[in-house]
Amino acid sequence: MKSHKPSTINDKLFNEAKRYIPGGVNSPVRSFSAVVGSPFFIKKAKGSKIYDVSGKQYIDYCMSWGALILGHAYPDVINAVQSVVENGTSFGAPTELETELAKEICKAFPSIELVRLVNSGTEACMSAIRLARGYTGRRKIIKFDGCYHGHADYLLVKAGSGVMTFKNSIISTSSGVPIDFIKHTLVLPYNNLQAVDKTVKKYYKDIACIIVEPVAANMGVVLPQNGFLKGLREICNYYKIVLIFDEVITGFRLAYGGAQELFKVKADLTCLGKIIGGGFPIGAFGGKKEIMNFLAPLGSVYQAGTLSGNPVSVTAGLMTLKILYKTDIYPMLEKRTKILCDGINNNLKKSKIKVTISQAGSMFTLFFESPKHYARIFHKLLKQGIYFPPSQYEACFVSVAHTQEDIERTINAFLIRS
Ligand SMILES: *Cc1c(COP(=O)(O)O)cnc(C)c1O
Repeated sequence: MKSHKPSTINDKLFNEAKRYIPGGVNSPVRSFSAVVGSPFFIKKAKGSKIYDVSGKQYIDYCMSWGALILGHAYPDVINAVQSVVENGTSFGAPTELETELAKEICKAFPSIELVRLVNSGTEACMSAIRLARGYTGRRKIIKFDGCYHGHADYLLVKAGSGVMTFKNSIISTSSGVPIDFIKHTLVLPYNNLQAVDKTVKKYYKDIACIIVEPVAANMGVVLPQNGFLKGLREICNYYKIVLIFDEVITGFRLAYGGAQELFKVKADLTCLGKIIGGGFPIGAFGGKKEIMNFLAPLGSVYQAGTLSGNPVSVTAGLMTLKILYKTDIYPMLEKRTKILCDGINNNLKKSKIKVTISQAGSMFTLFFESPKHYARIFHKLLKQGIYFPPSQYEACFVSVAHTQEDIERTINAFLIRS
């Protein structure tokens, strides 16, 4: 390890970045604003480890926000990408590879009969909602407080003070979103079927879809209560509302067939992203033929993309899925994550620090008493070469590359002397 202070060069690079990039970052959470400080700049990554420009090594539990389930620079994925780029990186015309990936997604998700590839999870959710509106001819959508579905205007909302009285009282979480753009978004509390029932009874003639993270992972990991997803399914069946599962994180993460496989509830439309790109930009949405047939060029709902289905993202995703399917890593990942969570829990207890740990498969969140507590622990871990996501409300991810030794080192780091 180098002798100079690791923070010096990172601070310098961050200051330079801030001169040309708003806030120095291309996505806001990267700025460490929730935990205070300068982010470290990455030089390279391999397996479970990420290295900053000063040469410091970190065990990475952010894993590109869940996109990398095999770990960084997985050899088979990198080799496949290297050989494909030599033959061109984008054609704006179909390739066999796209069919292969679509086929693999349909195989994994029995609810998906047709699937379209896009470039991000944001695009997937935005397009799925447009499709649901086109298909039903209705305007309103229901989303849940704390669920994230990308940054389309009408999805950047949260419940206002009227939420408990089930009035449509919502406010935008971003400026630049006119109130007219969010007036058809109904925001309800997660895991509250009663609120859904009440709202649907009132507005059902105009509700196109309910969109939900089947396991919420963008307010920290929050599991659906028993019966919540099944209840949504029943309500949607009854009122002919399109049920959209946003499985951008959970797809190929909780199980090969995502949360749908685990909870045995089928969505009408499913949004995917992250893992299916194997570390490259991608998104996808798919579902029932009857609905998907409304998409252009077959139907009247427009949706398009210059780089959609490009051979680079598709190859990385396809190779990732092939490996996941072949090795069935899910029970192993869950077990390893449980050992990690139990170990952390024990050591925090010994350190007299209050925490609630929520785990779903290979993702988990440590909920401390306040974000301030999290920030303190985040920096303590960072010093010891362990990188947790720079916000308490982002999920942590364990990958195939995390070793027994990584897990032990991480657990030990949670014995904190105050
Ligand atoms: C990450 C995420 C998105 C947005 O995906 P991007 O590729 O960042 O646009 C949407 N929904 C969920 C559940 C996500 O976790």
